[in-house]
Amino acid sequence: MSALRFIDTHAHLDDPRFDGDRDRVVERARSGGVGTIINVGCWNRDNAFDGLHPILERYDLIRCALGVHPHDAKDVEDHAPFVLIRRLLERENSIWQERTVAIGETGLDYHYDNSPRDVQREVFRQHISLARALNLPLIVHSREAEKDTLRILEDEGAGEIGGVFHCFSGGLDMARRVLDMGFYLSFTGVVTFPNARKVHEVVRNVPVERILLETDCPYLAPVPVRGKRCEPSFIVHTAQKIAELKGLSLEDVARITTINAEDLFGLGSGPREVRIAYRIRNSLYLNITNRCTNYCTFCAKFKSYTVKGHYLRLKEEPTFEEVVRAVGDEPERYDEVVFCGFGEPLLRLDLVKKVGMYLKKRGCRIRIDTDGLANLVHGRNVLRELMFVDCISVSMNAPDSETYQRLVKTPFGDRAFPAIVYFLREARKFIPKVVATVVAVPGLDVEACRRLAEEEIGVGFRVREYNEVG
Ligand code: SF4
Repeated sequence: MSALRFIDTHAHLDDPRFDGDRDRVVERARSGGVGTIINVGCWNRDNAFDGLHPILERYDLIRCALGVHPHDAKDVEDHAPFVLIRRLLERENSIWQERTVAIGETGLDYHYDNSPRDVQREVFRQHISLARALNLPLIVHSREAEKDTLRILEDEGAGEIGGVFHCFSGGLDMARRVLDMGFYLSFTGVVTFPNARKVHEVVRNVPVERILLETDCPYLAPVPVRGKRCEPSFIVHTAQKIAELKGLSLEDVARITTINAEDLFGLGSGPREVRIAYRIRNSLYLNITNRCTNYCTFCAKFKSYTVKGHYLRLKEEPTFEEVVRAVGDEPERYDEVVFCGFGEPLLRLDLVKKVGMYLKKRGCRIRIDTDGLANLVHGRNVLRELMFVDCISVSMNAPDSETYQRLVKTPFGDRAFPAIVYFLREARKFIPKVVATVVAVPGLDVEACRRLAEEEIGVGFRVREYNEVG
């Protein structure tokens, strides 16, 4: 049994190609860590979700979406499938009510044009109304119809409903518009195909917090099983490729995409576990406070307290003993231990020193991510107290005081920026590696920031992606 956990957000296990061995397919999915499969039920004239009901009854890990594929839009008469979906979902305590998590797949397919385009557009709009009425997200299919798909979603105000573009194959501009609308992007085995360069570019450039995984089985099996009938257990290959493209571990991608799918489809159960220590790649991050000196305009915590699938909203600040317990038995196995989290760690200077010394004695490499205002907060030069630190990463965030104050809304006013420049200069005396960072907020003069850091102060420089945390 795999220790990883995945959600296959788009499968067609009711397809007759699974009739001979569906039990074994589902068993392999479970063993491969697929904890939930969303089976997308497509209505058509001959099959009004009839094949889906027994599958829902037989397998407890299956959820479903209900809709009319754009290919079959031409067969919709008098709203028949929508009336049926409403009837199914209004049945109190029915399996349909319990397991239906989305409306779709719906959208536009101008590649095959199996239904007239004006009919596809009309049926797509009807799905959006239904999703709004039922308060369920949309699963959108769009093939060679990007402009019309986005126009209809925007016209209908679908951003309020939310949803996912399944098997996303558009370019980066389209991806950004989809994300701006609040939708997720879902990727199939196509991402593993060597010639899928456009998809690779999109995956590299969108936040992993907005990515879902799917197999679209029985179609689109990933490399190295390309050409076979696809099944949910193959999802690991898609996840592995996304990990490679994002510079993350497979474990990171499994955890993050699972939480993304839980958020979108309402699949989570109970409150999330708050992390004091959390792993990304092979680094261990310590979340010791959510308090901050500043109130940065670009801060991701104002949208969500989840970082790379870890929930960081502390109920109380942890004690030394709690941090050590969260770190576990072998901290030296990590590449580095980072004081970070959603908050300014040096507000808890004494705890940082105590935990830092403890970890140093265990042979750990220590990094602190800080806003660089600790000298102002504590009223003394704290850098001489941080000699156990191997690397310090300081959020410089601007090339000058005015820009800094506008971006981070610091309570220290015009004292803040000179204090950060001084902090960076002093840090070089006590800490082997010092890096000034900026978040690439639109309009920021990144080049001026680089010159200040590297040429005037003499420290390293790193640009952090806007909307990318961890
Ligand atoms: S210092 Fe960091 S955590 Fe605090 S508000 Fe700024 S970006 Fe957010």
